[in-house]
Amino acid sequence: MLQVKMTEAFKMSFLDAPVPEIGEDEVLIRMKRVGVCGSDIQIYHGRHKYMTFPVVQGHEGAGVVERVGGKVAGFKAGDKVTVQPQVFCGACAPCRSGHYNVCQNLKVYGVHTGGMLAEYFAAPAAKVLRLPDAMSLDEGSLVEPAAVATGAIRRCGDLAGANVVVLGAGTIGNLVAQVARASGARKVAITDINPRRLDIARACGIPACVDTRGRKLKDVILEQFGEDEADVIIDCAGVKAIFNEAVAAARCSSKLVVVANYKEPVEVELPLFQRREVDMLGIMMYLRQDFERAIDLMTRKAIDTAPLISDHFDIRRMEDVYPYIDDNPDSVMKVVIDIGD
Ligand SMILES: [Zn+2]
Ligand SMILES: [Zn+2]
Repeated sequence: MLQVKMTEAFKMSFLDAPVPEIGEDEVLIRMKRVGVCGSDIQIYHGRHKYMTFPVVQGHEGAGVVERVGGKVAGFKAGDKVTVQPQVFCGACAPCRSGHYNVCQNLKVYGVHTGGMLAEYFAAPAAKVLRLPDAMSLDEGSLVEPAAVATGAIRRCGDLAGANVVVLGAGTIGNLVAQVARASGARKVAITDINPRRLDIARACGIPACVDTRGRKLKDVILEQFGEDEADVIIDCAGVKAIFNEAVAAARCSSKLVVVANYKEPVEVELPLFQRREVDMLGIMMYLRQDFERAIDLMTRKAIDTAPLISDHFDIRRMEDVYPYIDDNPDSVMKVVIDIGD
């Protein structure tokens, strides 16, 4: 089978690898779609801190069950599926308290251990989730990023009646805003400085899509929410200057939620957190329930993922993908790799 392996930064090889053998608790999946994520781009550039080459990428996958091991119940050949791409130890303190998404020995398929960028992938049945027949494989590849969003919103707690502003209208920010809206928020606004991303946010039905070029976040929040301001500010931008604007714009007893991946320390005005009793939450990854909620919201059309896919590439053109993304930062949203027919 065809498998694409990153051998070092900027270098990949196309291998003719054996189709994986499956154990009795495993499912063999014929991969059909794999989404490309920000972390994949970091790996390509050799800037991902916590991985080693070589690695087969791919943690946002959708495919069809080819066959199942002898002890697997609940899946059969032909089922559409996605994979929750986390390997956790089950023994460390976070795992024992149910927070296996921040396992101290966490490995993610396609980052720290082999991923799905191949014609076939074998996964333990416990990490496989069934997709409804009516869901397209394209949508199936967006379940993982949607689960990042449902995980983030779960951590925010009850959003009923809340004013929520999401900073950054990339794929994750867009999905976070949509999930917030589907979770009972009173009003949801999303901000960006990229008009194309704001157009996509509008196409997804996000109520207020605000171009913040030349504007202070505090003013945008007052304009959108009035004197109640924002109950929850969710940072999906990952830009130091924007984070400090978010701190300045946080109201008394509001929540400031960090979803974006920061690569270096950020200096903040700590006294504002203390005096305003701002809760800061860090979001790393999802739990199984977040995948289930993402699939449910997508199935009920409570969130719309179709406008997020900007480009498709066949896996045999994988070498063109990252240069294309690098050359088109303003127009690329989610790139999906097609495998097979
Ligand atoms: Zn991802
Ligand atoms: Zn653990």
